[in-house]
Amino acid sequence: MRVIQPFATAGSTVYGAFDPLHDIANICEKHKLWMHVDAAWGGGLLLSRNYSYKLSGIERANSVTWNPHKLMGVPLQCSAILIREKGLLEACNQMQAGYLFQPDKFYNVDFDTGDKTIQCGRHVDVFKLWLMWKAKVGIFMKELIRTLRILFTNVCFWYFPPRLNLIPEGFERDQELQKVSIAPKIKAQMIVEGTAMISYQPCGDKVNFFRMVFSNPATRQTDVDYLIDEIERIGKDL
Ligand SMILES: *Cc1c(COP(=O)(O)O)cnc(C)c1O
Repeated sequence: MRVIQPFATAGSTVYGAFDPLHDIANICEKHKLWMHVDAAWGGGLLLSRNYSYKLSGIERANSVTWNPHKLMGVPLQCSAILIREKGLLEACNQMQAGYLFQPDKFYNVDFDTGDKTIQCGRHVDVFKLWLMWKAKVGIFMKELIRTLRILFTNVCFWYFPPRLNLIPEGFERDQELQKVSIAPKIKAQMIVEGTAMISYQPCGDKVNFFRMVFSNPATRQTDVDYLIDEIERIGKDL
């Protein structure tokens, strides 16, 4: 059976890769397919003068996911789903419960979100983004554009245990590298010692693969050096 990927990704979680959105939009238009763009990770780049081109074509999507709690640094959680077609969310989600969201208000009820979301009585997550926006428009935007330029980084690397240097470079060594699952142990040891908390992801069936995301403007070279030293310190004994 052929599996067709149901959506386009603008900033994939591990590699930070961007799909060619115009090409995908052309196909979707031709075959009348719904085009959803998962910009959960990469959506914040739309605010970057230098890198917004990576999302070129997103304006042709039917729907977009965007998580300001990632690249924008809004405290967890703040996730948005944006749908082009007006009224669709309401048509899908409204329950018209008589005890909720009465329409006879003194203001324009079009702005009531209650009947438009699947969440009903939950935090208004976007409020945090709105406050941030209000507080920082101006200086903040300038600052953000500057920091985005240097901070949109997924850094992926292998952990290579020193003892594998004893095996000559080649297939056998590659095989050995994949057999020992050291990355999870390094992470666990860091947590136990309380020194750092990092993430790792297997790359396919290959286990010793780390993905570092540097999205915090406060990150300094010394922090990165410290992390690498920690990985080496813990890894060498495993
Ligand atoms: C984080 C992420 C998600 C998940 O978003 P949630 O709001 O946590 O459900 C989806 N897609 C990508 C590419 C992500 O990076």
